[in-house]
Amino acid sequence: MAKTAFKAESKRLLEIMINSIYSHKEVFLRELMSNASDAIDKIYYQALTDDSLTFNRDDYYIKVIPDKENRTLQISDTGIGMTKDEMEDNLGVIAKSGSLAFKNETELEDGHDIIGQFGVGFYSSFMVADQVTVISKALGSDEAYKWESEGTDGYSIEPYEKESVGTDIILKIKDNGEEVSYDDFLDEQGLKTIIKKYSDFIRYPIRMDVTVQ
Ligand code: ADP
Ligand code: MG
Repeated sequence: MAKTAFKAESKRLLEIMINSIYSHKEVFLRELMSNASDAIDKIYYQALTDDSLTFNRDDYYIKVIPDKENRTLQISDTGIGMTKDEMEDNLGVIAKSGSLAFKNETELEDGHDIIGQFGVGFYSSFMVADQVTVISKALGSDEAYKWESEGTDGYSIEPYEKESVGTDIILKIKDNGEEVSYDDFLDEQGLKTIIKKYSDFIRYPIRMDVTVQ
């Protein structure tokens, strides 16, 4: 499928993420969980003013699904979802555009400063994944879409089947290198430790599904 190119600035940030040697790679999980939590907040706030919507707390949660065998990690939410246009607008560009404009080249080189100082958001997925898939169905929409990218050569968006409103993010976790292991991001215990560290920011329950075989 034809790929859409990332905007120049986004491409630069992506390159930093992909090549990051930053030791706090685990922040990707904080970023994805906080996006999931924000997406649920959006439904909650909408329900306050929209009588046709009821917000039943039990229906709103974040699910983390590691699959060791296939080296995938899925983070799903029952939040507001994204339309095709929203995927295009929100995932194809860096959210806090301008952040990079304030940084000089030296700081850009190892990315440490950027990742430390700014909420780099969704793109931090590329620190741990060599392919990122986002499947989403927006509240009020009958259609769902799949956004997919392997990094700097761009992304594709195509129609996809999804029953319920919300977003599934599927990360194809990188293979381990000589000095770096990503196995914590596929391991129940490793994930629990990271989730606990960041769960203060998350306002909804986080559940874990584990595929053993
Ligand atoms: P930020 O959260 O600071 O806006 P991100 O890069 O983390 O930046 O996310 C960019 C945007 O993508 C979000 O503002 C939101 O509109 C959209 N988005 C990301 N993840 C989700 C999700 N799970 N559900 C709905 N929208 C999302
Ligand atoms: Mg975010």
